[in-house]
Amino acid sequence: MEDLARSREAIVQKRAETQRLRASILDSVKKLISEGNFEDARAIALNELDGAPELAEITLAFEAAKPLSMQCEFGHEVTDFSFIPFTLAWSFDCPECAELKRREEEWRKMERVEAFKARVRERMMVILRKCGVPKRYLLARLEDFKSELRSPAGSVFLAGLRGVGKTHYAVALMREYLLNAEPIRNAKNLFYEHGLGLPEAAFITAPELLLAIRDSFGENSERTEKEIIDQYADSDFLILDDLGAEKTSQYSLQTLYTLLDRRYREERRTVITSDLGLDALAAKLDDRIASRIAGLCRVLTLKGPDKRVSNISRRWPGPTG
Ligand SMILES: [Zn+2]
Repeated sequence: MEDLARSREAIVQKRAETQRLRASILDSVKKLISEGNFEDARAIALNELDGAPELAEITLAFEAAKPLSMQCEFGHEVTDFSFIPFTLAWSFDCPECAELKRREEEWRKMERVEAFKARVRERMMVILRKCGVPKRYLLARLEDFKSELRSPAGSVFLAGLRGVGKTHYAVALMREYLLNAEPIRNAKNLFYEHGLGLPEAAFITAPELLLAIRDSFGENSERTEKEIIDQYADSDFLILDDLGAEKTSQYSLQTLYTLLDRRYREERRTVITSDLGLDALAAKLDDRIASRIAGLCRVLTLKGPDKRVSNISRRWPGPTG
């Protein structure tokens, strides 16, 4: 019995001593905090008083001593920060550092885009070739045309007699589109470099398109009809050359309508050339196709070998008006 009493006494004494020690550590930590020496205060508190009830009081002391501003590791003044009790530290995101980082990223991205665009300019002939442009038109550019034709926007239906330069102008528009296109991130397509890709562009004549679709019905065909229509309906920029020159059948009219209707609904840049005007096209193909073209495109009529233009933006009045 006596042994037990002695042990208890020893424990009580030890406890009292520990408490005194903790109280004295608490005092020194509070003193350090009041002097603004947060780092030492934090180190001692976390090392010596881990899990002790005194930590609550230390947290309050820290919060009471919250400075008006702090410095980030780069010496920027930060005024917006909050205290995290468990780590006894203030946490903040330096707005100046964030702004610097944002600017640096923007600059890097711009540099990458510039490098990509320079490469596109350099390799334009190869790119146009990959889009299906015939060799004869690879050098076409807007500078070849009068100034009123040099600021293209949107989709166009190019009418005019054979030989006035419609295809030439259509390809010049495609070149301009590709030069100014915003590169697409991680798009592995037509032309891909520096992690950036060009939007899809395609050139096809109407007779070739219908031939390709007809061939797709053959047993040994590599592509299905749907794949061909999808390619030309979904490409971001399409030149449909020489519309009206194809042999028409109920089937080919339906195919052309489907293609143009999809481009119309998705508002995809489309350049259509034809020796026929919209009225003649409506008569030769059908009204629905002509009215889809009228809804999608503005109408330009090219004239003469000097590539003069007339009727800019004339809207087709439609089959009834
Ligand atoms: Zn900073």
